[in-house]
Amino acid sequence: MVCRPTSEGDHRGGARRRRTRPEPGRPAPTGAAPPRSSVGPPREGRNPLVTVLCWDHRGGRTAPRTGVPVFPLTSPPTAELHIHLEGTIEPAAVIEMARRNGVPAPAADLDELLSRYSFADLQSFLDLHYANLTVLRTEQDFFELATGYLDRARAANIRRAEIFFDPQTHLGNGVPVGAVMAGITGALADSERTHGISTDLIMCFLRDRGAAAADEMLTAILPFRDAIIGVGLDSTEIGFPPELFVDVYARAAAEGLHLVAHAGEEGGPETVTAALDLLHVERVDHGIRSVEDPDLVRRLRDEQVPLTVCPLSNVALRTVDTLADHPLPGMLADGLLVGVNSDDPPYFGGYVDRNYAALRTELGMTAAQLEQLALNSFESCFLDRAVKDAYQDEVRAHFAGHAAESPGDGGTPG
Ligand SMILES: [Zn+2]
Repeated sequence: MVCRPTSEGDHRGGARRRRTRPEPGRPAPTGAAPPRSSVGPPREGRNPLVTVLCWDHRGGRTAPRTGVPVFPLTSPPTAELHIHLEGTIEPAAVIEMARRNGVPAPAADLDELLSRYSFADLQSFLDLHYANLTVLRTEQDFFELATGYLDRARAANIRRAEIFFDPQTHLGNGVPVGAVMAGITGALADSERTHGISTDLIMCFLRDRGAAAADEMLTAILPFRDAIIGVGLDSTEIGFPPELFVDVYARAAAEGLHLVAHAGEEGGPETVTAALDLLHVERVDHGIRSVEDPDLVRRLRDEQVPLTVCPLSNVALRTVDTLADHPLPGMLADGLLVGVNSDDPPYFGGYVDRNYAALRTELGMTAAQLEQLALNSFESCFLDRAVKDAYQDEVRAHFAGHAAESPGDGGTPG
């Protein structure tokens, strides 16, 4: 699979874009009221960035089914709770930042780099991902990275983003944590006003660096405690189970941080159970292999544990064979609190809007199902009840408007 920029523009243009820098400061505070009218639904051509289209997950571009109404015309308002900031770096930005910073690029040129955007599994993606991140060196790089995400997330109608970032990666590349934090928080500080997106940060531990390194990272981030709302656990899943991170999660809990963790992506359902019982996470990232354990499914339903599912990511990394094989519809039918997320979108075929579109066209999910997914996304986020309610009202209004335009679309797929 080779991903190519679309004809909407090119990645070089996206990488060169520069915005007036807002005053440095903290991300938007949790609990702030959602803006009501600062950003409308995305319109064609509004987004200055470009998405790499990787629809040919297993070779051959996937064609929409015939007879399925085109829906949604615009992606519903959504909270994105599983997005890795570093995973949003565009291929052209990798090449440009390497040149600008005078460091070796992971490929000779953009075409060669794009030729590597095909993955056999999670580890093969991570190998490219970490190679690409060696070009991130300065506060400006991180500012541009975060601003680029906001630009594209706005086009996908994201209204709330709880954004993962991996400072261990950058410390390992010799970048001070202060530069990382200044760049990211500078970009996100005024995101509600600039992009209509409420944002907060969740710092992830790289599980393959081990427990001692995670503990050191938590200590290193505490001077920036007010800039993050939680901690997570990502990177290589196999061989690095939740059991290794009990102590550092207990420390994070004592700091009043929210707790989430990747589990049940490549690891089995037992990793989800361990994340819940040993790490005491409030939300599970991925978790799709939970469906292999009926008792766990019942528990997730009864306790309404949020699962941040990433459909296109699961196909790109071959966690499922095709989108048609994805367990998401069944998980929704079982009453699980599942939402739609993009994970590392330039690598996996697109942002949340493309995930919704693929669920519609390739899985035949109904408007009612997509509405529930969007409602679930806000239900799952770390916001006050009243703020969640306001966002969920926006979701209902979005789908009510669509039903008025397309009566009859909302039941069974065509
Ligand atoms: Zn992830």
